[in-house]
Amino acid sequence: MVTSAWPYVNTVPHLGNMVGSVLSADVFARYLRMRGHEVVFVSGSDEHGTVIEVEAIRKGIHPKQLTDQAHEYIVKLWREWGISFDNYSRTESPVHKDFVRGLMMKIYSNGYMESRSQIVPYCPKDGIYLPDRFIRGICPYCGASDARGDQCDRCGRLLDPQDLVSPQCVFCGSRPVFKARRHWFFRLDKLESKILNWVLNNECLDENVRNFTVSWIKSGLSPRSVTRDNKWGIKAPFPGANDKTIYVWFDALLGYVSATIEFFMRRGEGERWKEFWMNPDARTSFFIGKDNIPFHSVILPAMLLASNDSYVLPTIISATEYLMFEGQKFSKRRRVGVWIDEALKIVSEADYWRYALIRMRPEDRDTNFKWVEFIRITNSELNDHIGNFIHRVLTLIWKHFKGRIPEVTRLDPLDREFNESIDRSWESYTAYMNRARLRAASDVVVKLAEKGNKYLNRKAPWARVKESVDEAGTALGLCFKASLYIAVMLYPIMPRLALRVLRMMNVEVREAPLIIKQPTELIKEGHRISRPSPPFKKLSRGLIKLLSSEEELAEFINKVREEVVKERPEFLRP
Ligand SMILES: [Zn+2]
Ligand SMILES: [Zn+2]
Repeated sequence: MVTSAWPYVNTVPHLGNMVGSVLSADVFARYLRMRGHEVVFVSGSDEHGTVIEVEAIRKGIHPKQLTDQAHEYIVKLWREWGISFDNYSRTESPVHKDFVRGLMMKIYSNGYMESRSQIVPYCPKDGIYLPDRFIRGICPYCGASDARGDQCDRCGRLLDPQDLVSPQCVFCGSRPVFKARRHWFFRLDKLESKILNWVLNNECLDENVRNFTVSWIKSGLSPRSVTRDNKWGIKAPFPGANDKTIYVWFDALLGYVSATIEFFMRRGEGERWKEFWMNPDARTSFFIGKDNIPFHSVILPAMLLASNDSYVLPTIISATEYLMFEGQKFSKRRRVGVWIDEALKIVSEADYWRYALIRMRPEDRDTNFKWVEFIRITNSELNDHIGNFIHRVLTLIWKHFKGRIPEVTRLDPLDREFNESIDRSWESYTAYMNRARLRAASDVVVKLAEKGNKYLNRKAPWARVKESVDEAGTALGLCFKASLYIAVMLYPIMPRLALRVLRMMNVEVREAPLIIKQPTELIKEGHRISRPSPPFKKLSRGLIKLLSSEEELAEFINKVREEVVKERPEFLRP
């Protein structure tokens, strides 16, 4: 299973959201398929919750009218970005709703739910019960001034609205009153030792996930309320809870499973989803931003355990740090950042964005998107180094060997060293990829291209061919091997362009290359390439000029935004 966090459908994802979840998951899914694994890759639109409910009330329409449009638009964007979902579902899907209600009832029947009166914030001015996120105040633990009622962004702790010092309604700023309402609570405390045991024994979990989770569990898990007084959402199934809905977080987390069920139902293989969720050999991976760690490392495993069904718990939780934008936080309100539909108006080939974002992936620390860096990565790294190496090699083979891959015959020490470094590159690339270290894996590709260029320059087969066809052939044979490995390693990151390169190499690939052990499986002796052309395109001088001057950039981005806004459904306009 490969999954990415379910995006809340009230907004178009920005580049930071993209690299934090959906794009990273896609790269991983494509890598696993390429290695011959059977992969199911799912996610979906998270459409319940207060933001959408409030917006619909304001417009006097049903919330689903808003989410229908938004969901459709976002699905179109995933296609344009080459995201290879097997199922991109939504929380309004009937399969999902049934599954959530069913699983919640199991948790209830197994004794992990309790109901009691809870004090709920109510805004007397707006006349609504305020969900946790819609209250802000001071964090009682770290003193951050803008902690939300559900979580403090600064210290990462999950909170209850009543914990906040000086709470305020986010819609109108007035002080909420707290009213007693009956709510249902999930007894996380009863599952502490099981979750701790899993976290400590799962060697695939990244350090940041393990540390956060262990320290949270050690400070004690308390029951968390799973019901809300909202109308828009999944009706709570518990006896006596007719006027409640399930809290969106519990709802959306279960979408990973329900989207898998839905996928197999559509294929007429009703029970096969269990092979991916209840089979001890199945592996599940979750691509999320670091703020979502507690939900995936504690709450999701807790729900799966409390069902008493034999679910496998997460294998990999790949939680990225934050991508900044020119040194600032992405902000919809202040229009800081680039959104994924805008990006394609700036550079229409999504693969260039995919490559640049993976190169900037905040894998172990926050990283910063800068236009100069985007230009450097695309023009210098991808074109001048990687693309140029491949193009030189293919052109020399075309010219001096009539397109036939020359045989690698006698290896001198330099040849041998280069050959070994190609094999080592593949080993470390796959080792990184297997652990979802996508940026580290992409470093390997860049370094191999660098080595290839140096080797090619030292060997100068274009001159050497006049003296010794064998020596020139050996050098070009090895360089072809390196080019093939590079194209294959790029495939998960930039699938469309990598496939183009592979076709130029005359490698027969339909949807994706399939490599069980080594990329050399793709070719046979005496293989011939097709006529080569430069594999990638540079950003034009005109575009670079626009991106390089502050004034021109601002004007250009405004123009892009005007264009994009016309295409967005009204609900998704800023
Ligand atoms: Zn805090
Ligand atoms: Zn209010």
